[in-house]
Amino acid sequence: MGARRARGSVAGPTWETEMTVSIKAVNDLGRHVGPLRAELEEAVREVIASGWFVLGRQVTAFEDAFAAYCGTEFCVSVANGTDALELALKALGISSGERVATVANAGMYSTTAILAAGARPVYADIDPKTLLIDPESLYAVLAQQRPAALIVTHLYGRMVDMPMIVEMARAHDVPVIEDCAQAHGALLAGRRSGAWGDLGCFSFYPTKNLGALGDGGAVVTASVALAERLRGLRQYGWGSKYRADLPGGRNSRLDELQAALLARMLPYLDGWNARRRAIAVAYSAGIIHPRVRSSASGGEDYVAHLYVVRCDGREALRTFLAEAGIPSEVHYPLPDYRQLSLAGVVDGVELGATDLACNEVLTLPCFPEMTDEEVAAIIERVNAWRVQCCL
Ligand SMILES: *Cc1c(COP(=O)(O)O)cnc(C)c1O
Repeated sequence: MGARRARGSVAGPTWETEMTVSIKAVNDLGRHVGPLRAELEEAVREVIASGWFVLGRQVTAFEDAFAAYCGTEFCVSVANGTDALELALKALGISSGERVATVANAGMYSTTAILAAGARPVYADIDPKTLLIDPESLYAVLAQQRPAALIVTHLYGRMVDMPMIVEMARAHDVPVIEDCAQAHGALLAGRRSGAWGDLGCFSFYPTKNLGALGDGGAVVTASVALAERLRGLRQYGWGSKYRADLPGGRNSRLDELQAALLARMLPYLDGWNARRRAIAVAYSAGIIHPRVRSSASGGEDYVAHLYVVRCDGREALRTFLAEAGIPSEVHYPLPDYRQLSLAGVVDGVELGATDLACNEVLTLPCFPEMTDEEVAAIIERVNAWRVQCCL
């Protein structure tokens, strides 16, 4: 299992002399994949020996396993998470010029997909406590902008209140796409992320909770009609071989190698998520600082893809952490509607909670292989910031 602990245990950090934390990134992939090396190499050998590399039995086997894991009828794999969102919109029949509602604090992915599908993004603000879509703001967007679809993002691995959001969207006759790229395996009221909306979109980018050794993505759905359209859209719009029946077709396929690797990793996902959650809970209990706030929960609806705090002196804290060799990141610094590429596309947007969050969010290291000692050392360092910041 991923939860290795206490390698070369260290009594207490002594920052002046020697670093006790040796973490390369907020998500250290070498340490994540290393223990699985033999198993993954065997999968690679199997695919090479098979002589079949795209849309074969490895892809089918992984799609079946992932659909079963998510509790959905169908899984259609694609090349990456952004394509998953774009093809999901196209499967719903979103046509050019239509509006699609989303949030602006989730890294541009949904916006990119909406624009690629020829639609226009309209934004709801976020709840400053959860950093997820704000139901009140969404209600106003649904009523006033009349979007043709809604993409909700389970940001940082925390599930949106899906019962409420789905009900609200249904009342407006708006289909719901879940962006589950940070929330593989999150569970709310006994139902996984991806199984609540009309379609659930996943990325298997290497740093995700379930990550391939390259790009990958998938869409899950309970609808046979949507699954069939997705299978056509990911392959040139084919209804049958060399017959391009569907408009908007693309080439966006998961390959056999990545599917085989993902199938080997899927059984570890729940254990990895449990360890991530335990790390997040330890951070939240340990970080006691007047200028560093966290709202991470320990529930199953949170799979701790990222451990994010809010801090009004973010850059100073980042520097203080970096001086002790502790990496940190910002997810994400600039709201979608303020991106250069969107100038003239979405003008006149002003989202107060989104703007504030983008200026304050800070991501601390969180991955299943972190040791308790490393977590404790990072907590201690964050808490020690008090001395410098508040003199
Ligand atoms: C990573 C990510 C995506 C995009 O996935 P890619 O595979 O990189 O295209 C979409 N949405 C969210 C929330 C993500 O974190």
